[in-house]
Amino acid sequence: MKLCRFLLSEPGEKTIRHGILEADRVHQAQGDWPGSLSRTGESWPLGRVRLLAPVTPSKIVCVARNYRKHAAELGNAVPAEPLIFLKAPSSVIAAGETIEMPPDSARVDYEGELAVVIGHACSRLGPGQAIEPYLAGFTCLNDVTARDLQKKDGLFGRAKSFDTFCPLGPVIETEFDWKQARIETWVNGERRQHGSAAEMIYPVDELVRWLSRIMTLLPGDVIATGTPEGISPLAAGDVVEIAIEGIGRLRNPVAARSDP
Ligand code: ZN
Repeated sequence: MKLCRFLLSEPGEKTIRHGILEADRVHQAQGDWPGSLSRTGESWPLGRVRLLAPVTPSKIVCVARNYRKHAAELGNAVPAEPLIFLKAPSSVIAAGETIEMPPDSARVDYEGELAVVIGHACSRLGPGQAIEPYLAGFTCLNDVTARDLQKKDGLFGRAKSFDTFCPLGPVIETEFDWKQARIETWVNGERRQHGSAAEMIYPVDELVRWLSRIMTLLPGDVIATGTPEGISPLAAGDVVEIAIEGIGRLRNPVAARSDP
């Protein structure tokens, strides 16, 4: 099942709705987003709605260096336990919205990633405990990074959290087998990254259990599971897509930010 957040494409429409996307129709849903839903019976053709980012997370937890070849391409060692940082929730944008390159950075990179979306609050999961009851599903995430500022600062707070630096979506797939996930990044129609969840140093279930012992994961929270090798800079005018078969394509144009 594919879950989405949307607005009706009508002038002045401001009501944010939740829905289930089936073929080219969106069926409105109610309940505790995104963990427990039922259909209201109303539906619209996909052409009459505008999809929003599928969740508004209380936190976005990112895993650094979770693929050996990506750690190596930046000259980093593989961490002895998961290495995490937080990305500001205000950096989230939907599929189709523009990634704005800030004047503060001379190098803005894409990072295509598989993202876990939490459906039900979870904390302190035990070793081997099943994660599935706590998940809403999976989506695509672009962990846009000001690479020069990441190096300059040593900490990731600034480099990862500029407004528009977290394209997320287009939908949450609830029946996704993360063990089979293949993550691709395309820039202007050319494939730049392709990786498989099988290459992750810390797999999804271990990451969720490990994180839940640090911080309570809340419904709508997002865990970005790291990027495969093949990162490179974006330029104004590019179109970048994160594609994960079974979920969809997260497509965003890139522009230079024009500050007043
Ligand atoms: Zn990343």
